[in-house]
Amino acid sequence: MTVIVVGAGISGVAAARTLAGAGVPVVVLDRGRAIGGRMASRRPDGRVVDTGASYFTVSDPAFDEVVQDWRRRGLARPWTDTFSVAGDGELTPKSGPMRWAANGGLRSLVEDLATGLELRQVSVESVEPGVEGAGLVVDGEAAEAVVLAMPDPQARRLLPPELTAELAALTDPFEPVLALTARWAEASWPAFDGAFVSGDPILSWIADDGRRRDDFAPVLVAHSTPEFAAEHLGAPDEAAPLMALAVRDVLGIAAEPTSTAVQRWSFARPAGRREQTYWLGEHRIGFCGDSWSDKPRVEAAYLSGMALGRAVADQLS
Ligand SMILES: Cc1cc2nc3c(=O)[nH]c(=O)nc-3n(C[C@H](O)[C@H](O)[C@H](O)COP(=O)(O)OP(=O)(O)OC[C@H]3O[C@@H](n4cnc5c(N)ncnc54)[C@H](O)[C@@H]3O)c2cc1C
Repeated sequence: MTVIVVGAGISGVAAARTLAGAGVPVVVLDRGRAIGGRMASRRPDGRVVDTGASYFTVSDPAFDEVVQDWRRRGLARPWTDTFSVAGDGELTPKSGPMRWAANGGLRSLVEDLATGLELRQVSVESVEPGVEGAGLVVDGEAAEAVVLAMPDPQARRLLPPELTAELAALTDPFEPVLALTARWAEASWPAFDGAFVSGDPILSWIADDGRRRDDFAPVLVAHSTPEFAAEHLGAPDEAAPLMALAVRDVLGIAAEPTSTAVQRWSFARPAGRREQTYWLGEHRIGFCGDSWSDKPRVEAAYLSGMALGRAVADQLS
């Protein structure tokens, strides 16, 4: 019997790799047309744009090993250690940790990690204990153990009410974000890599995707505040002109963009923080992902998946 991992974001893929590395048969199910989850890259005009996570940082040696391998193979590169704060009509640079980007889009890194894994595109509906408590059943398919690698609200939907301990563990609410991709005929804004927007009711962040991608295309990606996203979740396309206007205001851009597109993230970021890096119960259903961390980011999601993969492999052996 195999372990079924539901969710092929970076945490699910990290869990699956760890299980496969321990000799455990594993299959990964994801409902997306492409894997990667919130490390999402789209190709609006045939050019890759990161529409989910903007970048990642590295502090843990285990993640650093993976990142250095990506760097050696030209998949990831250090992007910048200087972002700006946008407010009162000014951009004030602030240095911080190195932020990493991927010229092929962050999704390409998850695809690289998933090399050799068995992946299937399917939207999972339910995960239940088998008859008389024997094993687990995922949409009719038997499994020895199940990893749910996704935001808490999405994992909760898959579990029956009798799994009380599991449901009690999944209590972290997530905040929404809208991501606007806007293209101009030419870049007419001050040079910056990324800017945290302070005190704006619509925007929280703007990235220069041309500088991030290193092709200097005149493309900006802006993220909304959770409050603005919550108001427009039902009709995200209607938010595009408002977000584009807010970007032009913040950066002093006179021209209108030549194209815009909005991506809706109903569950973008966990609102809470946890000390625990994963959860694994007596039914052999485990949870991992960025919410299993006190710093919910790409790196934390990777480490959470790895830790849960190891724990499941130990439990099975
Ligand atoms: C707008 C935005 C900006 C961000 N910015 C940054 C940043 O700059 N730096 C940073 O480090 N992090 C950032 N993050 C957070 C980062 O993207 C996440 O921490 C990380 O990608 C989470 O990975 P994950 O594997 O835990 O979950 P996810 O990537 O969400 O993966 C979950 C997967 O489960 C799948 N799934 C869900 N339900 C089902 C189902 N029923 N059946 C099958 N499959 C299912 C989904 O399709 C998805 O692929 C950002 C996130 C967003 C949305």
